[in-house]
Amino acid sequence: LKALNYKEGKISFQKDCPAPEQQPKEALIRVIQSGICSTDLEITKGYMHFDGVLGHEFVGIVEQCNDSNLTGRRVAGEINIGCNHCSYCKTGNSKHCPARSVLGILNKNGSFAEYLTLPMKNLHQVPDSISDDEAVFVEPLAAAFAITDQLCVTREHEVCLLGDGRLALLIAQILHLIGCSLVVAGRHEEKLDILKKMGIQTTLSCNLFDKVYDIVVDATGSPSGLEQASGIVKPGGKIVLKTTVAKERSFDFNQLVIDEVTIIGSRCGPFDQAINALKEKSVDVKPLISKTFELKDGLEALMFAGEKGALKVILKS
Ligand SMILES: [Zn+2]
Ligand SMILES: [Zn+2]
Repeated sequence: LKALNYKEGKISFQKDCPAPEQQPKEALIRVIQSGICSTDLEITKGYMHFDGVLGHEFVGIVEQCNDSNLTGRRVAGEINIGCNHCSYCKTGNSKHCPARSVLGILNKNGSFAEYLTLPMKNLHQVPDSISDDEAVFVEPLAAAFAITDQLCVTREHEVCLLGDGRLALLIAQILHLIGCSLVVAGRHEEKLDILKKMGIQTTLSCNLFDKVYDIVVDATGSPSGLEQASGIVKPGGKIVLKTTVAKERSFDFNQLVIDEVTIIGSRCGPFDQAINALKEKSVDVKPLISKTFELKDGLEALMFAGEKGALKVILKS
C-alpha cells in the first residue's frame, strides 16, 4: 500500500507498505484525502520524535468494521486513542490518557497513506452536504472550538488573536461568531485579507497596544508567540496557547505572575461542533485551501506547505 513514511528525519514515498493492522474495536478506513497541518511540519523538525506515517486531518470511507451502520460511511476521526481503563479514559478524556497513542503524531501511523485504522468510537460521519475538501478541516476546526469549550468568551470581551496561519484563520471565524470585540494580528496581509472579507478586524502584529486585551490567543505557531501575548494581555486576563513547536522556548514569566495572568493550554476539541459549523456554513474553509497534491508528490507537498504564504495543502490518497 502507498504511504508517505517519515523515518529518522527523512520522508519517503513507499509503494509497498504493509496494510495497517486492524485491532478488534477498530475500523479499517480508506483515506480519501488529508490536510497538512503545521504539526506535521514541526514533526519533521523533531517535534514529538515521531517515526512513521504522518497525517491526522483526514476524510475517508470505512471499508471494514464490526458495525454495519458504519461500514461504507464517509468519516472524519478523532486522533487520540486511549487505554480505555485510566481515570481520563473513563471520563471521556482520552486526549489526556498517559498511555495514549495519537494518529500520525505518537505511536500510531497516520493518514498520509491509502489506509489507516482507528477505533470505531473515534469516528464521526460526515454529512453529504460537506465536501471532501471541507471535511479535512473537521479536525483542526474542532481544535479551534476547544477554545470556546475551555473558557467562556462573551460579547463583552476584548479579544486578540495572534497569528494568521491555517489554525488561526479557523479560530478567528469561531471567535467572530460569538460577537466579541476581536482583532486578529498577523504578519501576512494576503492572509489577513481573507478575514477582512468576512468582516473581521485585522492588524499587523507590530501595531498592537500593551495590556489591553481580556483574552489573547497565541496561534502564531512561533516560539515567540507567548512572549508577544504576555505583553498585550490585561492584568487578570487570560492567554490561550495553541502553539506547539519543536524549538525550545526561553521566556521570563515574572510579569505574568505579577499581572496574575491565567495561561490555558489548548489542543483537541469537539468534532460535533466542527461538523455542525461546516454543515451550517457558519465557517468558510474554502478560501483557506492553497493547493492539492497526489500522495506520491508528498515530499513536494510538505515543502510547499512550509513556504511563506501557504495555507492548507491537501494530499490525495
Ligand atoms: Zn493538526
Ligand atoms: Zn487511558
